[in-house]
Amino acid sequence: MTDLARQFRRNLLERFLRYAGVRTTSDTVRADKGIVPSSPGELELAEIIAEELRALGIAEVAVTTHGYLCARIPAGPGCACGPPVCLLAHLDTVETVSGADVRPCVFEGYDGTAITLEGGAALDPAADAELAAAKGETIITSDGRTLLGADDKAGVAEIVTLMEILLAHREIPHGEIEIILSPDEETGHGMDFVPTQWMHSRHCLTLDGSGLGEIECECFNAWKSRVVFTGVARHTGTARPAMVNAVSLAADFVSLLPRHESPETTDGRQGFYAPHRVSGTMEDAEVTVLLRDFDAAAMEKRLKIVEQLAQAVIAGHTGSTVTVTHTRQYVNMRESLEKQPVLLNCLVRAAKSLGVTPVFKPIRGGTDGSRLTEMGYPTPNMWTGGHNFHSPTEWASLDQMEKALAVLIEFVVQFAYENI
Ligand SMILES: [Zn+2]
Repeated sequence: MTDLARQFRRNLLERFLRYAGVRTTSDTVRADKGIVPSSPGELELAEIIAEELRALGIAEVAVTTHGYLCARIPAGPGCACGPPVCLLAHLDTVETVSGADVRPCVFEGYDGTAITLEGGAALDPAADAELAAAKGETIITSDGRTLLGADDKAGVAEIVTLMEILLAHREIPHGEIEIILSPDEETGHGMDFVPTQWMHSRHCLTLDGSGLGEIECECFNAWKSRVVFTGVARHTGTARPAMVNAVSLAADFVSLLPRHESPETTDGRQGFYAPHRVSGTMEDAEVTVLLRDFDAAAMEKRLKIVEQLAQAVIAGHTGSTVTVTHTRQYVNMRESLEKQPVLLNCLVRAAKSLGVTPVFKPIRGGTDGSRLTEMGYPTPNMWTGGHNFHSPTEWASLDQMEKALAVLIEFVVQFAYENI
């Protein structure tokens, strides 16, 4: 598998550079209004890749009205019984850094020294251990004016190259392979219109991770609490003692949230309360709080604490009220993946068999995979070889991309023999 991936290294690079050149910056305001894809470039790239897949000889290729590219190849020889699997990556790039006119720079056999890009941004191996470790590899950067878009065009290029290899080498055993390249991951709407009705697969894998060996199978549980206070309105000149100011209640509530459990004071596996938005008047005021915890029981506790703090704030303020509404945003995929570990175990085996040590990192956020897992499709996330995402100093290692491709080939072969 390593040799095959090596043979297609140039194709992988060419593809990645070509995709990076298409502007696919997604737009949160439009996506929040339900407009998906939120930018024309996402659809453009989907159509470019659809044509490419048809030219490779894939019969089942379609782009949905919401810009999801779906393609499927049948099982290889002797593997008609293997379970189908769906591989996913996202076409869009984040809007916080320009994705217009991306001009990638390729450094073959990176010498391990600092790189100053044309746009002024610098990549410093002294401050970036992953870059220092990539000495000798072929690395790709933007020219410093834009992001590179390795998040997630590295994943896209790896999936498309895998399809090319499977079609060129029909002797490779594999089950039915489905791919979905999706829009609007960065706006948080990537799975809003995912065509699950099209899928035969019950197991999926996203390629949207970073450095070599990274496999993500755990993310936050995420809830949002809306806390609404009503006060007792009076003319300010004659307010004493009856007035209760809802703005003050909201401020009291925020001040009671533990500061040592906020996003800016936590990392690793610690959860937090993040006061997210405050609005209101003397009559009524609203606070939204984002709650995050890896542990489901600890999250239950956080929800109760929000309620208790809200009640504590109004205690003694006659006439005031508070209502607390909790909304679930996404759930930690760990539990579901533990119940249905076949794909994850297979991926880990494939990585180890090619000498890649899996690195398990909890994600302090959610992924398309966590949404899919919640929908009933266990979906871990694997590395793509991209680094420093969402920044003009984003870079990718072609060697790590090639390794991802080799592991993907090995994975589809091993998965074809799984009995589920
Ligand atoms: Zn991504």
